[in-house]
Amino acid sequence: SDHQLEYPLNPDAMDWSKLYPYYYDSDKKEMTKNVTIADIGCGFGGLLVDLSPAFPEDLILGMEIRVQVTNYVEDRIIALRNNHKAENKYQNISVLRGNAMKFLPNFFHKAQLSKMFFCFPDPHFKQRKHKARIITNTLLSEYAYVLKEGGVVYTITDVEDLHHWMVKHLEEHPLFERLSKDWESQDKCVTIMRNSTEEGKKVERKKGAKYIACFKRLPNPI
Ligand code: SAM
Repeated sequence: SDHQLEYPLNPDAMDWSKLYPYYYDSDKKEMTKNVTIADIGCGFGGLLVDLSPAFPEDLILGMEIRVQVTNYVEDRIIALRNNHKAENKYQNISVLRGNAMKFLPNFFHKAQLSKMFFCFPDPHFKQRKHKARIITNTLLSEYAYVLKEGGVVYTITDVEDLHHWMVKHLEEHPLFERLSKDWESQDKCVTIMRNSTEEGKKVERKKGAKYIACFKRLPNPI
């Protein structure tokens, strides 16, 4: 349960300086950058670590609901920052414990994000559990709200049924349009997401299939 989790009342009430101290201007008392990339259900943080050098200009946030896992990722990022102090590397990634299925608009302004990753989300196999899946019509409207026009939703899973589920829901949503296989083959995030996450590595070892689908956030209809 997530009843003990704390959420900011709105995005401006959130203290990001604790998560990204390097990007806090203590004279002006404001952040010099905002989060633009979110990894939803980031697990052990492999994607964050590989996205960090690939997107040095972006602030990247992992959201994870499990306490121990979040603590692990926090320690992992602190260690990386300490080991790369001179170059100020890994200052642009951080992790937040939270339920991404709730209160996302409390953390992010409208159109704040340019990319959202859903890597190997929990499949919730049973029919009656499908409503617990992280891609549903209602949640997609929240994701569309925090994503900017032209922003991208990335999905990857080894569960074929879940892949079809995510594709179906995203395709049915008026604010998302699927990106082509050609686009996927030229996008660096697709390569990173295929290889960087702990779950993806597990699937690789088992020589399992990986199903990918990416969707562009369309403009709001007039
Ligand atoms: N993305 C990682 C990877 O590919 O290695 C982790 C995949 S793991 C199968 C799914 C993760 O999503 C778990 O760590 C789980 O705790 C997290 N999770 C599930 N529901 C969540 C929610 N509502 N909000 C945030 N994280 C969630």
